[in-house]
Amino acid sequence: MRRNRNVKILATLGPASSTREQIEALFRAGADVFRINMSHTKHDLLRELVGHVRAIEADLERPIGILADLQGPKLRIGSFAGGPVMLEPGKRFTLELEAVPGGAERVQLPHKEILQALVPGARLMLDDGKLVLRVEEASPTRAVTVVEIGGRLSDRKGVNVPDVHLAIPALTEKDRADLSAAVDAGVDWIALSFVQTAADVAEAKKMVMGRAGVMAKIEKPQALERLNDILDMADGIMIARGDLGVELPLEDVPGKQKLINRAARKAGKPVVVATQMLESMIEKPAPTRAEVSDVATAVFEGADAIMLSAESAAGAWPVAAVATMNRVAERVEGEPFFRSIVEAQRAEPEATAADAITAAAHQIAENLKVAAIVTYTASGATALRASRERPNVPVLALSPVLKTARRLAIAWGLHCVVVEEPKDLDGMVDQACKLAWREGYAKIGQRVIVICGVPLGTPGATNMLRVAIVGRSVEAMQGGS
Ligand code: PEP
Repeated sequence: MRRNRNVKILATLGPASSTREQIEALFRAGADVFRINMSHTKHDLLRELVGHVRAIEADLERPIGILADLQGPKLRIGSFAGGPVMLEPGKRFTLELEAVPGGAERVQLPHKEILQALVPGARLMLDDGKLVLRVEEASPTRAVTVVEIGGRLSDRKGVNVPDVHLAIPALTEKDRADLSAAVDAGVDWIALSFVQTAADVAEAKKMVMGRAGVMAKIEKPQALERLNDILDMADGIMIARGDLGVELPLEDVPGKQKLINRAARKAGKPVVVATQMLESMIEKPAPTRAEVSDVATAVFEGADAIMLSAESAAGAWPVAAVATMNRVAERVEGEPFFRSIVEAQRAEPEATAADAITAAAHQIAENLKVAAIVTYTASGATALRASRERPNVPVLALSPVLKTARRLAIAWGLHCVVVEEPKDLDGMVDQACKLAWREGYAKIGQRVIVICGVPLGTPGATNMLRVAIVGRSVEAMQGGS
């Protein structure tokens, strides 16, 4: 089963997509990676969902990625004694560390890290940014604010604090427990919420110990300021436009999306564009024109993956949402100017053997009109560098390591296949030709480019490129997968 597009689709699982049949329908419609949102998923359900995905994977013989998205430090106000209140613009409103009964003039803010960090002039965004408070006086136990944007406020609404760095650990106790459960269940990616520094990512990596990729969600201005350090540390990046659009003015988000996309592409780390891509499809069977345009923009930007949240997790049309993304992505990538746009954003190769080889493969693919590039990859590094080139032919990533194939399912343009490790170089080239043919990427008589590291199985040692012709013998070839 092959996809006719390079960009990958992530679909979040939830009540609308938690049975094996529902998940398989999403996969068949185009989902390449499934996201499990740990804010809403208990560990028993996590294991059940992972089990369903693995069963589908075994049945359809395609590696499928699973990403567990940790909740992170969710900051919330306390409760109101007499039900919801209306905050009037210009009026004062006080946030207290102590458990005061909430009312029209005050409410508890049970997070000392916020109160300690606040300074006069800083903003607090409440309820997804619908209400805005500006700090007038700050102390470690209380902040007096003026209401800038008012409205109705009810119990335990979320708080975003965009203007100051919060001394909050990257991983809460819940996150640590969820991370352990997710890695034990065998997920391929862990996404980290509200990352502020590269050290936050390092902390998660220490716990994960290489058993999954660690993806940093960029949703705070503090993370944007340190984007390159975070990119160095993380294995992937998510542009989490939900919270990013609360912490930044909404009109800043498209520009930041471009900036993050380019930085991640330059670093050669998978980048996911997330949130509200087909929001109206939570309720309706067809998207708006603007949503289709938003999906198209991410595809034109050469993002590795585009993501569905509530559309696939809790909407009325989960399969239609995936199918819509799939159709839009296929059409956009087929547009005559798609290649020139993606080429214009190409990141220059770095001075490494892997980049020299993958850049050469890209160029040869254009000169010789080859059918596909086939990379051997144990750790995934060679395949990611090939994907970073955004070549104009399909890239097959052959790996003897199932975990690598699953993790690479998120990366632009990679069609992953788990293979037995070939005995020698000739065996490798024969197997590459056979699989390119068997998976429907090359016909007999067409050329493919094979790139790998010799000796085989040495991670990061990409040093060989071979142009091979797919011969008739592939039809009779035994084994190879
Ligand atoms: C987001 O904020 O865009 C996001 C993906 O995170 P969450 O769904 O956890 O809020």
